[in-house]
Amino acid sequence: MAYKSVNPYTNELLKEYPFATGQQIADTLTTSHKLYKQWQKDNDLAARAQILHQVAQAFRDHKEKLAKIDTEDMGKLYRESLGEVELCAMIADYFADHGAEMLQPTQLKTIATGQAEVQKHATGVLMAVEPWNFPYYQIMRVFAPNFMVGNPMILKDASNTPTAAQAFADEVLAAGAPAGSLTNLFLDYDQVGEIIADPRIQGVALTGSERGGKSVAVEAAKNLKKNTMELGGMDAFIVLKDADIDEVANIAWRTRLYNAGQVCTSSKRFIVAADLYDEFLKRLKANFAAVVPGDPMDNHTTLAPMNTAKAKVKLQEQVDRAIDNGAHVYYGNEPIDLPGQFFMPTILTDIEPDNPAFREEMFGPVAQVYKVNSEAEAIEMANDSEFGLGGIVFAGDAQHGKEVASQIETGMVFVNNFMASLPELPFGGVKKSGYGREMSELGLMAFVNEQLIVTAAHPDLDNPAGGLVATDPTK
Ligand code: NAP
Repeated sequence: MAYKSVNPYTNELLKEYPFATGQQIADTLTTSHKLYKQWQKDNDLAARAQILHQVAQAFRDHKEKLAKIDTEDMGKLYRESLGEVELCAMIADYFADHGAEMLQPTQLKTIATGQAEVQKHATGVLMAVEPWNFPYYQIMRVFAPNFMVGNPMILKDASNTPTAAQAFADEVLAAGAPAGSLTNLFLDYDQVGEIIADPRIQGVALTGSERGGKSVAVEAAKNLKKNTMELGGMDAFIVLKDADIDEVANIAWRTRLYNAGQVCTSSKRFIVAADLYDEFLKRLKANFAAVVPGDPMDNHTTLAPMNTAKAKVKLQEQVDRAIDNGAHVYYGNEPIDLPGQFFMPTILTDIEPDNPAFREEMFGPVAQVYKVNSEAEAIEMANDSEFGLGGIVFAGDAQHGKEVASQIETGMVFVNNFMASLPELPFGGVKKSGYGREMSELGLMAFVNEQLIVTAAHPDLDNPAGGLVATDPTK
């Protein structure tokens, strides 16, 4: 599991990175913890906001360089990489603009003697474990809010996007953040466990697979460290019978092929009303067939390679297994004659509940399409999953779409639109898609000590429980 940057379009090994040494880890823990203590003392939110704006500006100033690294590390279309860099800048700006306000104390109404408030304090150094599919954005989702909170962050990024992870950390430091704000280390799994066990670590954030999430959550639990888990999804895209098929067709293929289908919230299951099923399939096939595989740096390319040879092999195995268990290939599943790790956009139908594909996340450009005879059946099928991340509902009447959305057991549902990730919107799931939220005020609070302070002018001597039980105001 060495850290290697291999361009999945050319298969060229671009750079290899050695694992962090014990000394690097020890030094990082010392520096990060010292910074936490320093921030606790100063708590200069305005200064941190200013630096975070500088980080945003640095991302914008260096967007071409950063986007190229992104594309070379994991293959995504260059224009999507540019979009990812801009989103990072937006996230940094958002928390710089709103972090201080979110961290103001909340006054409580209480019958206790004295004035009660919840203050929001930093808790300490975080260990963040992040994936390769959005090499910058995933890091920024944790870094920006926690920089405002005052929690320094140690980063273990995916072993196939090391250049992007290091570039992110370098930008942060060069933009003026103090050493220890964000330190990227090339760690093996045991080293991640050792860092989590260190008493100076107070929180663990992971975005990744169910398998990776379980392992890291166990390490966090063993050491009683608070953690957030952003895991996989089997998001449903429900098409109700009165949906506008033109709008549906225009969005459906994008939700599956964006980032070569490697998005936790990609629509992986299209659940379509019987009246629209044939037309939906026809349009999805036409759109899948129109994509142009090629050099992701070229603006004419519309299908990127997958991130690694290993990922492509895994997806092919899943598709083969689905077919062996009765799935019908409506379109695709043929080789693409290019050296990169391309997977032809594929549409599978006739997947029965006993087919393993019914429950497995396929992390690539493969759409599963299901026909349903009623809205109730659509909702039931959407919820028949161990995952609960996101979802999309297309309905003729948006308000009715909202009523359907509320019945989907996931953390996020978009009605009549593409799923969007923006700094002001909370991101996260339920069930095996994980727990906790990133982004928005909810995400900022993930690793905050919400400390209750009750201030009385004098002790309440009349209280028979010595203050442990609230005074009855009716007496
Ligand atoms: P993964 O294998 O779990 O890897 C994610 C990160 O966890 C990588 O840095 C990986 O390091 C690390 N990791 C894995 N096992 C570990 C262990 N035992 N100890 C310490 N670190 C460990 O996930 P992936 O397959 O690359 O990423 C795709 C998955 O992420 C999909 O399931 C996708 O749905 C999910 N995802 C979820 C969200 C969300 O917000 N909910 C967003 C994006 C992706 P190595 O690279 O060194 O193995």
